[in-house]
Amino acid sequence: MKITKLYARQVLDSRGNPTVEVEAWFNHIRATAIVPSGASTGKYEALELRDGKKDYGGKSVLKAVDHVNTTIAKRLVGMEFLDQKAIDEFLISLDGTKNKGKLGANAILGVSMAVARLAAKVRHEELYVYLGELAGTGKKNFRMPIPFANIINGGKHAGSSLKIQEFMIAPVGARTFAQAAQMCAETYHVLKGLVEEKYGKSATNVGDEGGFAPQLSTPEEALELITAAIKKAGYRGRIKIAIDAAASEFYANGLYTLDRPYTPQELVEYWVRLLKQYPIISLEDPFDQDDVDSFARLTAIAGKMKVIIIGDDLLVSNPERIQAAIDKRLCTGLLLKVNQIGTVTEAISAAKLAQLAGWIVMVSHRSGETEDTFIADLAVALGCGKIKIGAPCRTDRVCKYNRLLRIQDDKIPYK
Ligand code: PEP
Ligand code: MG
Repeated sequence: MKITKLYARQVLDSRGNPTVEVEAWFNHIRATAIVPSGASTGKYEALELRDGKKDYGGKSVLKAVDHVNTTIAKRLVGMEFLDQKAIDEFLISLDGTKNKGKLGANAILGVSMAVARLAAKVRHEELYVYLGELAGTGKKNFRMPIPFANIINGGKHAGSSLKIQEFMIAPVGARTFAQAAQMCAETYHVLKGLVEEKYGKSATNVGDEGGFAPQLSTPEEALELITAAIKKAGYRGRIKIAIDAAASEFYANGLYTLDRPYTPQELVEYWVRLLKQYPIISLEDPFDQDDVDSFARLTAIAGKMKVIIIGDDLLVSNPERIQAAIDKRLCTGLLLKVNQIGTVTEAISAAKLAQLAGWIVMVSHRSGETEDTFIADLAVALGCGKIKIGAPCRTDRVCKYNRLLRIQDDKIPYK
């Protein structure tokens, strides 16, 4: 079966910035995909091609759109699309750069995802079933993931002085995904009441990922609020906490600036104190992407405390960087973002490499999202049991919860 038409257009993401939507066609059957976009991007990510002209403050993506409609379409139309690996390898070689900088990772990923959707559609399979076949997972390994819900937003995703980017709740004690979604939503609403009581109504405005963004300045204030909300909602012990520090964003000249400047060693000690004090199960990007010594130091300690250290900017979903981190024991978990690497095949390889090393894998949204729910299917297909999808608020986040609620009806077990 061969692609009969490929077409891209510019659409908008959840921040009102342009992004790439791709349609892949087989005769009258059309599959679409939309590419997400980050704000606290890692410096080793594949390149998101933006025009840099006056439109949309330099953020239009018409060059990437044009690359799909000309260079890529010219070669891909007429190609067999049931072989995802061959399509993705062809796209990689057509680009020819290490960071997909020539055609743009946003152009390449849009095509890669749309082609996977087209294949699933033509085979009359759910996307997660098809992605599971690509990953070699097998149906009995499909799992509904625990949602990691970012209910207090900080850093680049909010307008507060809170430097830590994400404070998430993880309903590890739920028995089904529906129950997990309910636990997240109920706790989120209880938190809203607590935030309003303490900081006033305007403090309940939300950040990029749907979490509240009150004027907090220390992580402890956020953790106290969340702990109180979990307790008041009746989920003590059944909901745990996760943090994404996105520390590259507050690192400069060898120091981390939180309430005061911290040396790397002081920050290691600070994290250990926090891990002892609160029911935190995972800590993402606790250090700058190049501060590998601190990653290794904290990972050794956190392992004994059964806390997972997750690499996001550190790994950028790149198999080469993941292998290096496995060898040096820099972390114990991979945050998997498909647009950091740029093709479906490479994202699946990244996940498998991490799983083989005994790491956990958490599939993740970006802070700039759309109605596309590809990542929900990917998490189920990989059987990785964890997904980071923001708060149960704003349709760009809620659509992932709702897609998972629909998949759950196929009787896929939770966790
Ligand atoms: C993250 O850092 O994990 C994240 C989702 O944010 P962004 O998409 O801005 O990189
Ligand atoms: Mg992150």
